[in-house]
Amino acid sequence: MSRRVRLRFAPSPTGPLHIGGVRTALYSYLYAKQKGGDFLLRIEDTDQTRFVPGAEEYIIESLNWCGIKIDEGVSIGGVHAPYRQSERKELGIYKKYAEQLIESGHAYYAFDTAEELDTARKTAESQGASFSYNAQSRGQLRNSLSLPDSEVKALLSTNNFVIRLKVNANEEIHLNDLIRGDVRFNSNIVDDKVLLKSDGMPTYHLAHIVDDYLMEITHAVRGEEWLPSAPAHVLIYQYLGWTDLMPRYAHLPLLLKPDGNGKLSKRDGDRLGFPVFPLEWKDPSTGEISSGYRERGYEPEAFVNMLALLGWNPGTEQEIMNMSELIEKFSFEHVHKAGAKFNPEKTLWFNTQYVHHMDNDVLGKKLKKQVIAALNTEEDDVRLQNDYLFAAAALIKPRVHFTYELFNTASYLFEAPIAYDKQVIEKRWKPELLSFFTQLGADFDALQEFTAVNADAQFKATAANAGIKPGDVLQLLRVMLSGQGSGVDLFGMIALLGKTEVMARIKKALTTF
Ligand code: GLU
Repeated sequence: MSRRVRLRFAPSPTGPLHIGGVRTALYSYLYAKQKGGDFLLRIEDTDQTRFVPGAEEYIIESLNWCGIKIDEGVSIGGVHAPYRQSERKELGIYKKYAEQLIESGHAYYAFDTAEELDTARKTAESQGASFSYNAQSRGQLRNSLSLPDSEVKALLSTNNFVIRLKVNANEEIHLNDLIRGDVRFNSNIVDDKVLLKSDGMPTYHLAHIVDDYLMEITHAVRGEEWLPSAPAHVLIYQYLGWTDLMPRYAHLPLLLKPDGNGKLSKRDGDRLGFPVFPLEWKDPSTGEISSGYRERGYEPEAFVNMLALLGWNPGTEQEIMNMSELIEKFSFEHVHKAGAKFNPEKTLWFNTQYVHHMDNDVLGKKLKKQVIAALNTEEDDVRLQNDYLFAAAALIKPRVHFTYELFNTASYLFEAPIAYDKQVIEKRWKPELLSFFTQLGADFDALQEFTAVNADAQFKATAANAGIKPGDVLQLLRVMLSGQGSGVDLFGMIALLGKTEVMARIKKALTTF
C-alpha cells in the first residue's frame, strides 16, 4: 500500500529565514500538494544556544506571505503534536530511541570532556592528521566501549555523558537521493556522531530521524550541506529497524552569489543592494534591520515564482507560473544538481511581469489609496471613482515595476502640471505654434465623442491642415498636458482626462510657454 505523501519544513529558529530556506519549504510544499499530501512545519530548536526570539514567528509569517499553507505544525497543531523539538524532548521521545540504539549495540556512552577532545584533536593535527571520533580512535577515548564496566557505571551515575552512534569501519552505504541519484559513501568517512547531548537534548541527527519516522514523513527536502551527514542518517534508520520507512531524501543545490562563486549571503545582499530575506527582520540583540522582499514592494506571487525557478525548471521555457501551475509542474527530476546563481535583475523582472498582468481593478484600488494619501482629496472626487481609477491604472501599469509606483509615475492624471519640461520646450517650442495649438483646442472642443481614437485622428488632421508634421508637435502636446516629455500613452491620457480638462491644460500651457 502506498503511503500518504507527507513533507515537512524543519527550520531551526536561529534567525530570519534566508531565501534558500524559503525555497526548501516551497519545493516541499509543491510536491506535497501535487501528490494530494500534507505539508508540516516542525521547529528544530534543539540547539538552545542558537535560539533567537522572534525567529519562529518570522518563519510562520514568511510562509504565510508566500502562500505556503501549513497543514500541520507548530502554528496549528495536529495529531503528531507537539511540533517543537524542545517540547518533544520533555516527553522523553528521543531518549527512548537513543537507549534502544545502545541496547542493540549501535550506540554507546561517551564521557570525554571538551578539553579531552580538544587535546585529541590537537595531537592528531600535530601528526598531520585530522581527528575523528570513529572506529579507529574510539578505543583510545573514554567511552562505554573502551572503559571497564565498573567505571562506566560510576560515570553514568554522574549524568555527564553523551550517546554516540557506533559506525562500523569500512562499510558501503547507499543513498538514493531524489536529485543526485545513487550516492555511495564509505563508512570510514562517517564519524561516531553524537545522538544525545549531556543535557538530554538530541542532536539534529537523531531528532530529525525520530520525528520524520513518528510524523510519517515520506520525503525530506533539505540543503546540500546535509549531504555529508546523510550516510550517518541512513545507518540510524537501519539500526532502528526503520529502513523501509526512511523518507526519500532530496538534497537541494546551494543558492550562489550573483557575482562569483560561493554561497549567497546577507553580505552579498547588502553589497549589491537586494534583500536575502522574504520579510524585514530586526535583529533582537543588535537592533539592526535587514530589508525584506515584502517591504520592498514585491508581490508574493512574483517572489515565489522567481524562487521556484532558482534551481528548477518545468522542462519547458515557461517562466511565469502561479502557485497552482507550480504545484502541477514541479518535479525533483528537473531540480538541477549544480548551484543556482541568484539574479536580482531577474527578480525585478518577475515582479514587473506580475504587476503588468494584474487586473486594473486591483491596481485601481491601490492607486486610490496613493491618490488620497498624496492629494488629501475627497472621496467624491471624480478622479476617485472606479471608472477613472481603473482606466488610469490600465494606462500606468506598463510603466511600473512595483504597485507603489503607480501614483508617482503619472500623478498628472490626477492634478494639472505646475511645471513643464524645459528641455522639450527649448528644443521644440516656436511662437508660430501658438495658432496650431489654439486651433487644436478648438477642434478638440468640436469633437462629438472624445475618445482616444478620435482625438488621435483629430490631432493628425489639424496638423495636416496647418502643414505641420505630427512628430514636431506631439511631444509639446504631451508636455502641455503632463508637464513631462514622456509618460503614459498620450491619447489614452487625453481620453481619460476628458475634453474640459485637456482644453484647460492646453490653454494654461499656452500662456506659460
Ligand atoms: N533544522 C535543519 C536546518 O535548519 C533542518 C534540516 C532538515 O530539513 O532536515 O538546517
